[in-house]
Parts: sequence; structure tokens; C-alpha cells
Amino acid sequence: MGIGQLSDVLDATRVGDEMYRLICDVYPFCRSITGNGVRQTLRSVGKHIPLTIHEIPSGTQVLDWTIPKEWNIKDAYIKNLKGQTILDFANSNLHVVGYSVPVKKRVPLEELKQHLFTLPDHPDWIPFRTSYYKENWGFCLSHNRLLELTDDQYEVCIDSSLQPGFMTYGEYFIPGESADEVLLSCHVCHPSLANDNLSGITLTTALAKYLTQVSLRYSYRFLFIPSTIGSIAWLSLNESRVFRIKHGLVVACVGDPGRLTYKKTRRGNTELDKAVLHVLKHSGQEYEILDFCPYGYDERQFCSPGFNLPVGCFMRTPHGRFTEYHTSADNLDFVRPEYLADSFFQCLSAISVLENNKVYLNRNPKGEPQLGKRGLYRGYPYGGNDDLALLWVLNLSDGTHTLLDVAERAGIAFSSIKKAADALLACGLLTEIPI
Ligand code: ZN
Repeated sequence: MGIGQLSDVLDATRVGDEMYRLICDVYPFCRSITGNGVRQTLRSVGKHIPLTIHEIPSGTQVLDWTIPKEWNIKDAYIKNLKGQTILDFANSNLHVVGYSVPVKKRVPLEELKQHLFTLPDHPDWIPFRTSYYKENWGFCLSHNRLLELTDDQYEVCIDSSLQPGFMTYGEYFIPGESADEVLLSCHVCHPSLANDNLSGITLTTALAKYLTQVSLRYSYRFLFIPSTIGSIAWLSLNESRVFRIKHGLVVACVGDPGRLTYKKTRRGNTELDKAVLHVLKHSGQEYEILDFCPYGYDERQFCSPGFNLPVGCFMRTPHGRFTEYHTSADNLDFVRPEYLADSFFQCLSAISVLENNKVYLNRNPKGEPQLGKRGLYRGYPYGGNDDLALLWVLNLSDGTHTLLDVAERAGIAFSSIKKAADALLACGLLTEIPI
């Protein structure tokens, strides 16, 4: 089966529900840039695709960075001196600042407050905070809960470990006809946050699962990596083969109701940029195109000047632009199966453009070939776009235009142009030119 047929046979409701279920499965795990939460998450992903798990030892030098110590946590709480629990990590893994060093002591309220983080503007929400590269400890809680703290002293405990271990990431590769690769990457380092980053994990998993079922022109590489340090480590370990990457997408924040957003590659005018722009233009939905900027997700690393890979970023509402971002309100209610499914099908359409964006030659370029006698011309008033697509493909198949060029010039969706090209190929009016 070709990729074009895939969108026809897949049921959007089923795909959305499946994607949402994976989010629910991994939502409870306490992920960070290292540790068992990432391993648990990758094990869940591994039930859908045969993921290879890589473990890189702490202390390994990767480009300008060093793999940090591994962080794990069993329990954490704040109690008053009567032994009543004020805050319990078991209720939300956002309650502890990620990478908090172990602590167990009695502290005066004033000192404790220096280690507490809240969101006064959203007094019921718990913020998400980390301190990866500076050893510290802290708790995150709702502002309303903070206002209830009136005792002089409290008992704090963070039963964590920060020791030499490993940084874990997952990788999956589908070989295609060509050794040229399409890279799809998501981050796996946030605790119980649904849109940022579980939606990216489930979209990457779904793409991997379904692309496995079709014959592919490109090879596909899927990365499930902790943000920043993960992409830096992968680039460091794979420097000699990154030239294979012809197109790449970082996917994040793809399950919210916001409009589709695409952040262009650093190069700004790659085939991938054109393909995604085309798909969004024909999506019938509102969308936004952002120029590259060196802030965001792992496209920052893939697009660093020493690599400058053609990697863009596919999102709905970008990080920082939704109020729920990095708070407990980015939960299982915030992402919906229908938005996940829509993001999946838009990505699949963009990949379908890349897979089918070939150059053809019209074998009967002198005058229009007579389509009627080949059963291809339906004519006014029935032909509409189908006839027009045939005429555009014939006219621009002079060996210099890709099908995407034809689709853009004609103002017709790539899928219709591709269908026209298939019909013309079948009756011998076109021939493919190797690019
Ligand atoms: Zn984030």
C-alpha cells in the first residue's frame, strides 16, 4: 500500500482515540531528562513500535555538553509539625521541582518559601519547574495552598537520588527505497503534562506505526529524546550520518484546540517548508507560519549552524502561547482525540507530499494529447478540478517542475495533482524523470 491510500483507509476517530489512549497510559509517569520515568514511557511506546532504547552514561561528553547525573524520585511531602500532610508528591508529580536533590529536614516557613513556586494569576494551578543544571530543591503548589501555610515550621522530605547513571532515549528506523532520511523527533522529558509533551510522543508513535505499514520512498528515523541534551547527544553520536537527513519535523503541542502552526526550517525555503505550507493552505483550517528563530524545541539543535539540517517544527498552539503551558492545567482534559487526529493527518499529508513529489515528462508535448479517447476527459460541467489537474500536470511536466510546483502553480491540492499524474502515467502520457 502506498502512503496516499493510508489516509483513505484510516478512520480519524479510531486514530484519535488510539493516540489519546497512549497519552493516558504514560501521563502518570514522572519523566525528566533522565531516569525511570523516561524508561517507563519508552516501554509504553515500545508496545506500539519496536523501539531501540539507548542508554548514555552520565559524564559522557556530547558536543559542548556533558550527560548529567541520573535523577529518580520515590516520594516527597511537606508536613506540619502535627504530622498532617500539606503537600504529597503522590497527588501530582509536578509538586517537586525536577532534579531536586534529596532533602529531609525541619525548616522555618520563611526558608521554605524560598523553595516554593506558585502561579498567583492561576491560584488553583500547580506550575512545572526544573533545575537540571544547578543543584537545588523545591516544591510547586497552588497559590491557594501556599496562602494556607501559617505555621512557623514545617517538615520537608524529597526522597530523590541524583547519581551517576544514564540518559535514556528511544529510536526507531524504517528503511525505505532510498537511504535518504526523514527525521521525526519529539521530547520525552516532561512529567504529567499532556500537550507539552505527551501529544508529541503520541503523534510520533502513530506516524511510526502507520508508516511501517506502507511502502516508502524515504527511510524514516523517529527519535524520542529528552529536550536539548537528547538532541545534542544524538547529533554528537550520529554526526557522520546526519547528511542523510533530507527533511525533518520536531512535533510538540499537537493536541490542543488551537490552530495549526508550522515553524520553518532555518534555511526557510526547503522542500519540507513548501510541502507543509501547501498542506496547511489546503487544510481548510486557520493556520500560522512562523519564521525560524533559535528558541523553541529541538529544532534549535538540528538547525544550529554546524548542522543546519532542514528541520521544521509542527505544532498547534506553540509553547508559551497557551495559558495552561507548563502548569497542571495542561492535563488530560486539555488535549482531545479529534485535535490529535487532525494533527496526525496534516503531518501525514505533508509526508505524502514529500514521498510523491517527483518530476515527470509529458511524452506528447506538442499540442494537448486527446484525453477523451483515453477515457480521461470528462469535460464541462463534470470535469472541474480533475480535468484541470490533468491539464496542469501535462503542461508543466517538462522535466523541470516537481508535482508540488505544479500543485502550487495550479492552486490545486497536491493529492488531486498526484491523482492526475497517476492517471496520465497509467496511460503512458507521462514518464518519471529521476531527480
Ligand atoms: Zn516544555
